Amino acid sequence: MKNYKKKYLTQLQNHGAVVHEPLSFYGKRCLHCYEPLKESDSYVHQACNKRFYGQLTTPQLGYRLQDLDELASKVI
Ligand SMILES: [Zn+2]
Repeated sequence: MKNYKKKYLTQLQNHGAVVHEPLSFYGKRCLHCYEPLKESDSYVHQACNKRFYGQLTTPQLGYRLQDLDELASKVI
């Protein structure tokens, strides 16, 4: 499993006191660690899924936004 959290330490050691503009990236980013995301069909790295949810895939809700009115009427 790749460790995404410690990338800032390598950047500090390599550059020292010289300030560099970060490379521009306009693609999708991971919703957990905000690093660039190469997988096109997901919003979170597989390693981040494992760390955050304890499984390799992102859990999905069993209903949609349009179903909320019907679900709310069942609760009342
Ligand atoms: Zn991530």
